[in-house]
Amino acid sequence: MLGLYIHIPFCSAICNYCNFNRGLFDAALKPPYVAALLTEIARAGDGEAADTIYFGGGTPSLLEPSDVAAIISACRQSWAVAPDAEVTLEANPETVTPERLAGFRAAGVNRLSVGVQSFRDEELRRLSRLHSVDTAVAAVGAARAAGFDNVSVDLMMWLPQQSVGEWLESVDALVALDPGHASMYLLEIYPNAPLRDAMARGRWSVAPDDDAAEMYVSGLERMDKAGYVQYEISNVARPGRESRHNLKYWTDGEWLGFGCGAHSTRGGVRWNNIAATGDYIAAVTVGGQVAGRRILSGAERVEEALFMGLRLASGLDVARVRGRYGIALWDEYGGDLEPFVDAGLLVYDGRSLRMTRAGMLLANDIMAVFIRSTVR
Ligand code: SF4
Repeated sequence: MLGLYIHIPFCSAICNYCNFNRGLFDAALKPPYVAALLTEIARAGDGEAADTIYFGGGTPSLLEPSDVAAIISACRQSWAVAPDAEVTLEANPETVTPERLAGFRAAGVNRLSVGVQSFRDEELRRLSRLHSVDTAVAAVGAARAAGFDNVSVDLMMWLPQQSVGEWLESVDALVALDPGHASMYLLEIYPNAPLRDAMARGRWSVAPDDDAAEMYVSGLERMDKAGYVQYEISNVARPGRESRHNLKYWTDGEWLGFGCGAHSTRGGVRWNNIAATGDYIAAVTVGGQVAGRRILSGAERVEEALFMGLRLASGLDVARVRGRYGIALWDEYGGDLEPFVDAGLLVYDGRSLRMTRAGMLLANDIMAVFIRSTVR
């Protein structure tokens, strides 16, 4: 079934490490943006089955519950959205109140993904986040009180000045909150990020690579002990709480993206919308919001399915790969993969191919084996 992605590019402030497609919230821009989304959704609708709606950003929780309700309703009018569809809204802690959360829940959102990032106030300040630990804990509690039984929490590791022990404090605090799902990412500081200047001014540094590896592995081990199951490189969940929407990206699914900069993949075709918010709004009025479109070659589709599938903890099922893509995985790639198996980064048992946790830290190097036909 299709997944539907809705991009909301507005943020209350721009975090010093962020290079997503986002901008400062502009009250005058929001109504025409929501109107453009509704137009784009209505035009694209073809009645096909969909089972996930995902509001990502940016900060989707800056929308009013009535905006969210209108967008979900438009999706339901345009596609056969399953009654039990997973409907996720990304939320920043400082943007939610009990009333707004109740409004989002009443609008049809049934999964809240809360961007906490750290449970240590000094780390949040270094990242220029607007919320505190108390605000984040209160937001998760308020989400539960508003009826959200499916809550995800995002954390980042390898933050400036963060030690392994401090990272594990955040992991323990996350476990204490007991969300059904958690995402745990290594912070990547892009070349021109304002955070780099802040680090220079504050004389902050990040821990050595070995410590980053220890953060990753020991953080996941704590989640194991707490009963979570790692199902993807950066994602863990209680059984049944895996992100159905994100699984579409990793399992060769199909999705449609709406809003500025949103990507879509369907029927072997990939396209992306104009990234700038104002340009996107103007283009929607004439039906020309798509900035680029290309047909994926057969080889590209297979390669992408393989390297995305390898992100999953369960890895690639050899029989399924043969049945779906006509590829004998080990015959085709075994020569290039063998060194990773020998190094303890990959496990191949004839039935499946999967990365170990040590391998997940070097996932890009391993996945590059599958990229032969594409220059990305
Ligand atoms: S709130 Fe999220 S999307 Fe917005 S600037 Fe911060 S990290 Fe980027």
